[in-house]
Amino acid sequence: MTAKPNCPVIAIEEHYWDKDLTAHFKGVEGSRNPEMLKRLYDLGDYRISLMDAAGVDMQVLSHGAPSLQKIGADLAVDLGRRVNDRLGEACARYPKRFAAFAALPTAAPEAAARELERCVKAGFKGAMIHGLSNGEFLDDPKFDPIWATAERLDVPIYLHPSVPDPTVAKIYYEKYLEDFPMVIRAAWGFTVETATIAIRLVLGGVFERHPKMNLVLGHFGETLPFVLWRIDQALKRPGAKPMDFRKVFSSNFHVTTSGNFSNPALLCTMMEIGIDRILFAIDFPFVENPDGMNWIPNLPICEEDKIKLLSGNAQRLLKL
Ligand code: ZN
Repeated sequence: MTAKPNCPVIAIEEHYWDKDLTAHFKGVEGSRNPEMLKRLYDLGDYRISLMDAAGVDMQVLSHGAPSLQKIGADLAVDLGRRVNDRLGEACARYPKRFAAFAALPTAAPEAAARELERCVKAGFKGAMIHGLSNGEFLDDPKFDPIWATAERLDVPIYLHPSVPDPTVAKIYYEKYLEDFPMVIRAAWGFTVETATIAIRLVLGGVFERHPKMNLVLGHFGETLPFVLWRIDQALKRPGAKPMDFRKVFSSNFHVTTSGNFSNPALLCTMMEIGIDRILFAIDFPFVENPDGMNWIPNLPICEEDKIKLLSGNAQRLLKL
């Protein structure tokens, strides 16, 4: 049992799996050890007992990667509806303990936008997209219906990592995969790909077209707060189109602490974008609840900021 802070703890990047969807997962993305599978497939008493043991009051649930992002339009639209309906039912069973981000069939952007609206009207708090959409970057204007709907409904889209594109995987990581299987995933590959997608959303003008759209990045912003000054300065060098990257990042992005319980990372992120844009997340079950909760007593911030981080910001952004 960890020491309980003086406010609720809301963790917003907490995953589960739906068998109807994971039947389509291929290779390493579809395999996990038995205990992990037990945790992923449970949306009931077992999950809640692990939350209670660690002191997590609420999980904002999302399907694990790659969710619907590697499934074609022919299957993804109907499948997504069924998956989201089941997730909505789990939240209805435990309304004080679970909230949810929808899975979106991004292969069919118009249908994805309609599904986002349908889910938000049913109580979902936004949606999560995992990496590229069937190999395509999300800054293509064809994905604009998704951003436009999120902006209009005032719900965030959480951009979450996925195993990188096979070409990238081969050139960048293959040599070290056997000795270091996580190099392509949480150790580095996830970060590179997700940060690249986020940067391209800014360069592609998504936030000029949708200035009130809120994007959430996990893992303390996939390193972007640490390199924000350099990206901003370099993009402004002579010959480039006008771009205020730092301003967009500080106005349209929120970041979470998922799987990165680092005081130096927290302080850097606070100095760049402020405590109001940082939300608590664990990344259960890929990261253990106590790993996140044991960090809380050691947070180098005042009580008021701690409350914002652990639940206040989530309550505001997600209207919980
Ligand atoms: Zn995650």
